[in-house]
Amino acid sequence: MQIPLINLKKQYETIREDVDKNVLRVFSSAQYIMGENVKQFEKEFGEYIGVKHSISVGNGTDALVIALKALGIGEGDEVITTPFTFFSTAESISTVGAVPVFVDVRRDTFNIDPAEIEEKITSKTKAIIPVHIFGQPADMDEINEIAQRYNLKVLEDACQAVGAEYKHKKTGALGDIACFSFFPTKNLGCAGDGGMIVTDDDNLAVVCRALRTHGSGENGQKAYNFLNGINEEVEEDKSEDNTVYNPLKYYNYLIGYNSRLDEIQAAVLRVKLPLLDGWNDKRRKNAEFYNRNLSGTKLTIPHEDDYVKHVYHMYMLQSERREELVEFLKENGIATGIYYPVPLHLQKAYINLGYKEGSLPNAEYLSKRTFAIPMFAELTDEEKKYIVEKLKEFDE
Ligand SMILES: *Cc1c(COP(=O)(O)O)cnc(C)c1O
Repeated sequence: MQIPLINLKKQYETIREDVDKNVLRVFSSAQYIMGENVKQFEKEFGEYIGVKHSISVGNGTDALVIALKALGIGEGDEVITTPFTFFSTAESISTVGAVPVFVDVRRDTFNIDPAEIEEKITSKTKAIIPVHIFGQPADMDEINEIAQRYNLKVLEDACQAVGAEYKHKKTGALGDIACFSFFPTKNLGCAGDGGMIVTDDDNLAVVCRALRTHGSGENGQKAYNFLNGINEEVEEDKSEDNTVYNPLKYYNYLIGYNSRLDEIQAAVLRVKLPLLDGWNDKRRKNAEFYNRNLSGTKLTIPHEDDYVKHVYHMYMLQSERREELVEFLKENGIATGIYYPVPLHLQKAYINLGYKEGSLPNAEYLSKRTFAIPMFAELTDEEKKYIVEKLKEFDE
């Protein structure tokens, strides 16, 4: 049996008709940029998360960069985050000219340890970026409490946790601003790159909207006025078609980016969003099956906090003999993924920050033990049983 880590072909088979129809409609409309699908998807996504503003962008990394810029973070600032995450989280901090300050993680949830945050706060600290790693929300009450006490902003990196909940509230609605990725393998993935910024803050939203398109047009002017304390009416952008010609595009108010979600991606995402909760529930069922069948083995199964709804973007196991086990599974047709083999504080790209082996022991410990096994909504009973059987065979 051959089982991939994530099976995107199988998912497409279940939604083929609607995806094809929606995408073909985009082609015949010939409105590829900032059209009806993007507008509607932003609205639908915002309602789903429970936030006032959704600003779609080109990918999750751009979402982080633009959100940081909108928070006013740049040269000379420090941002606290976790070393046990995808590179983008820290990279975006560096991209805006600030310095990532890494705080160790909890060994059980792999999320930033709130008990270790305070000692890393300096006069330069401006924000905290918790990452809801592998689909499990971070300790947001504790993080928000610290942020409030030190007057810091909280930016959620929710790229792996769309649909996850913390105390019955969705991730993305738990801080000042939040970022999502629609990279194809994420729980809500498009057919290429895509991302989203969400916030309840009207001013942050306007600045993000301006930055994603060269600081131009209506939003550019509104953002400029907000940032410069100017109180004046801004004329509404009534242009219908952003693909061919929008005259307001040639009036620029801020230095921004070109980072938009395109119509084709939005058309795909509009088919998938209503199915997300069902898919996440299936992932949770798969995780329950794995947990039930693997407890009592030498493997460490993932811990789920009582007050969260984990959406298992990845199902992570831990083993003392990871490399051998991963090889054994590969020989038996079972794909695995090692997340993350090098914690960010020990990456070559961050050698200048001066961290050493031993600086953040939990992240380092986990980087030597964790691995993901196949996890997707369409996983069959037969596949799950086979995976468990092989894991147990190795364990004996
Ligand atoms: C995927 C991911 C990102 C980046 O998203 P892209 O769309 O690939 O740019 C950022 N942070 C985390 C935690 C991610 O998993």
